[in-house]
Amino acid sequence: MDIRPNRDANGRVVALLVIILLLLTPHTPETATVSTTRVAAPPFVRSPARVSDVLAPAAAPQVAPPPLTTTVNVNVLFIGFDQSQLPADGTPDPFAVNPFWFDILLPPSADPVVASWLDFGLLAPAGYHVDFRYARQFAPASLEQRFFALLTQIGEPAPRTSWQTRYNNQVHNAVDIPDQILRIDGATVEQWLSKETKTIPGFTDSGYTLVFVNWWGHPGFQFHVYTGTGVDPDTGRNLADLDAATMAWGGTYGKLWFYDASAGPDAETSNWNVDDNFVTGAYHPDEVNRLIYGPLPDYRFPPFWEMNNFPDTQNDFIRDEDIGFNLAVIARTAILGRVAAVPLYDPVATAPVRSGRKLLKIVIVDGNPSYDATRFLSTDWLEKRLEELQPMYQWDVSVSIRPLDAEAWSAFTLWTHYWDFLNWPPAGQDCLGGFGYYALQCYANAHPEFSGPADASDAVVTFLMFNLSEEVRLATVPIFAPLGIAADDGTPFPGVGVMWNSPAVQERRHKETPGVGLSDIIGHEVGHLAGQMHPFNIWDPDLFGGESSQFTAPWLYVHDQSRTTMGYYSEPSGFGAFDQEVNARNLAASYYGHAFSLLTSTSGPAAAGIGTKLTTAAALFQSGKNLAAARAAREAYESLAQIGQKPAARPSTAQRFGSGDPLRHCALVQTPGCDRGSAKFKSAGAPSVKPEFADLLKKFGFPPN
Ligand SMILES: [Zn+2]
Repeated sequence: MDIRPNRDANGRVVALLVIILLLLTPHTPETATVSTTRVAAPPFVRSPARVSDVLAPAAAPQVAPPPLTTTVNVNVLFIGFDQSQLPADGTPDPFAVNPFWFDILLPPSADPVVASWLDFGLLAPAGYHVDFRYARQFAPASLEQRFFALLTQIGEPAPRTSWQTRYNNQVHNAVDIPDQILRIDGATVEQWLSKETKTIPGFTDSGYTLVFVNWWGHPGFQFHVYTGTGVDPDTGRNLADLDAATMAWGGTYGKLWFYDASAGPDAETSNWNVDDNFVTGAYHPDEVNRLIYGPLPDYRFPPFWEMNNFPDTQNDFIRDEDIGFNLAVIARTAILGRVAAVPLYDPVATAPVRSGRKLLKIVIVDGNPSYDATRFLSTDWLEKRLEELQPMYQWDVSVSIRPLDAEAWSAFTLWTHYWDFLNWPPAGQDCLGGFGYYALQCYANAHPEFSGPADASDAVVTFLMFNLSEEVRLATVPIFAPLGIAADDGTPFPGVGVMWNSPAVQERRHKETPGVGLSDIIGHEVGHLAGQMHPFNIWDPDLFGGESSQFTAPWLYVHDQSRTTMGYYSEPSGFGAFDQEVNARNLAASYYGHAFSLLTSTSGPAAAGIGTKLTTAAALFQSGKNLAAARAAREAYESLAQIGQKPAARPSTAQRFGSGDPLRHCALVQTPGCDRGSAKFKSAGAPSVKPEFADLLKKFGFPPN
């Protein structure tokens, strides 16, 4: 679960967009030894004979497939930063980038897991291993000058944001931001950088590019922010117009993301606040989470001009000691959160078979007929976005309306009781023993017309939307209840999507008018059900001891600042290059693993030729052709799977950790068998922080929990 509450115009707390995870992860610090050692077999692509080994009658029925592996190139460019001349021993340098930090903090490799399994006490690999190959350059002066000229040229003079005014009103701010600043279109900057970085010696054209920018201290500097690209199809809310502007952008035209340390300060990451350890009145009011999990200090990465401005005795949570360290941490989490992003759910769990379609059935349970919520729902937009995320499938989005009758009302109120953490535990139980967590899932399951496929080869995603009046919403929906959620089905597989709506949602969001329609939110939740995770949920056992999130580290919100419907900032922007790549990679790995599982229990003619297909898939995967790899692995899987057959869990690839009950969703602290009392978001059993840099990181307050 991650709760995203929001305050509306009148200061009422409106619990906004929530989904799954993190806090729901079972925490069992006292136990567990989990080995994350990968299968020692050589890469499948170099050893196709392995298939026949597995097919041999003597083979164990549950055999992990030979791992898919790939190498991803990552270019890292610094524009406007000096290279630090200090010794490479972690000596802090506030104003220049010591490459030392990138040497030790950029991940050499990653082994993503499927996040939903963590809620069931199981560590389940996503099915691939990725090695990273880095190229790093400091931009020459000529490129710097041309880049800063571009910012001056395309920036639109505008009043400073209200968040910059808040910054000016701090006691300890180093500078005052003038009345007029520049608003700069992030996508145009991204496009320019994308072209320029192709000509930099040592950079590769394939793979990902991270660009770190500093304009501060260079001739012609002006205070500035970036604007995102994306318009809500239902309300017209335009990211480009938002007062909450960004310091970063990317993913619009390709796999490039830039972060400008001399922009802002911004709203999302709270770095406008340089006075307090705990940021009140933040853009994302995470106070609600503090109510449940206790105070977590708000670690912030300040703008460049604030470096070295804060003795730790004054504020220990502002990372002003070393700009290179800050950028390396952002780079690390960008790579693990974007490039090797964990899937929330197994993406094949909602896949159709052969020529089948993905049917998104939106059911509006109407408790407020005087407010026509369908005015704020665009099925065309949803179809386009979802096919952008998963071009392999044909999506078909339909809407039906039914009354909020007694049965629906009873299910809804049981569900709301689950989220009333101030009166826990609720008296009621749902059909899956989830204290109401599954109440709406149970309601949908009792109505096969919600989920019955038109054709056995189709896959159905059911989405329930409860349309409420403001009065009913205020009386029934607790402040902790998510606006939307993509819940599991009582196992680590996806269940139904759910949201409630009231007129206030369309009116305001994040303190700005207009608010959002239904399409953005449904797109985000269905994105989860199709496998995608938030860009700020980072699986990083080495640094964070497990999964980290924006609650652990508010600066992780910066990863929202790109084209992704999976963030909390830019839902209307669509599924950009990062989402597309990650979904295809996870689909390929999942189809490959499922096909391999079926292969172990199949023999004779059905298995003939499958080894070749899987070998092809592995070769495509290794060369970075993820969508083609997914198609090849899908072909292998579908020639073995029965129509309508749900992909089986692959228990041989999931390792139990801690004392989590693998049969029960560890939804809350109180769930029997689950220890989720820790506020530190650590999944016990994950490897500890690498000893060689643990001490250094500690000096900087990391890991920050
Ligand atoms: Zn979400």
